[in-house]
Amino acid sequence: MQPAVIVHGGAGAVPEAEFVKRREVLELSREAAWKILTGGGTAVDAVVAAVRVLEDSPLFNAGLGSALNRDGEVEMDAVVMDGRTRAFGGVAAVRDVCNPVLLAREVMNSEHVLLACEGASRFARERGIPPCGPRSLVTGRQLERWRNARRRASGDKAGTVGAVARDGAGRLAAATSTGGMVDQRPGRIGDTPLVGAGNYAEDGLGAASGTGWGEYFMRSLATYRAVSALARRLPEEALQEALDAVAALGGSGGMILVDAAGNTWWGYNTAALCVAWRDPAGEGSACRR
Ligand code: ASP
Repeated sequence: MQPAVIVHGGAGAVPEAEFVKRREVLELSREAAWKILTGGGTAVDAVVAAVRVLEDSPLFNAGLGSALNRDGEVEMDAVVMDGRTRAFGGVAAVRDVCNPVLLAREVMNSEHVLLACEGASRFARERGIPPCGPRSLVTGRQLERWRNARRRASGDKAGTVGAVARDGAGRLAAATSTGGMVDQRPGRIGDTPLVGAGNYAEDGLGAASGTGWGEYFMRSLATYRAVSALARRLPEEALQEALDAVAALGGSGGMILVDAAGNTWWGYNTAALCVAWRDPAGEGSACRR
């Protein structure tokens, strides 16, 4: 069975001047996953590696470069889901971990599925994940966005990174990581770490990672909706059905999807979405408005 992967860098108002740079990093992320997939690794390892690359880039709203909340602080959510066992691990409102996706993976391998705030940080230390000063994750770009959002008294909804993959054994996985929405209330948790809202994987059907206005992804169970629709609809229709459900409630966003046959798909109803993919049909990257 041939592996497949697709990664995204968040739906929203991506400046056209950044398209080339974003595509370059998304391709690096895709290749990190591809190396694992072609080396016999699992889909879970692949999506974690892909998201880690994007968290380390200041261009995306996850890890370094996370959006700032109303207090001007970083609070991040991340998740990993294994489609084979439907085990998942999520972290919410973590402030002092450079790569929240690595912590999410540790949670997946624990007795719990979701850890938040200080407890998540303590668990990170127990598992040997070193602390990372919250200020070191703040970039000039996000400070500027935060100041603009405070001036306009409304946040924009851009950001988030994610990866979905199928490995050589046909196993599916999804991982997503975000700094949330700029100027969000402290303590606000988005759709990313909630199973079926911002991230979902189920072997035999598909895996999906979402980005956009999280409250609407939660209310429409958007990624679960897309993956479960694969049982009765073509993949592009399943994806559209989920995005339409988000839009019908008043939200917007984007989503990537890999189906059980290893084909990759993406769609959005926001200003733009940047992605990179590699599947049996070929490879590529794109930023589209
Ligand atoms: N979905 C993320 C959240 O609501 C934000 C985003 O994708 O830009 O936290």
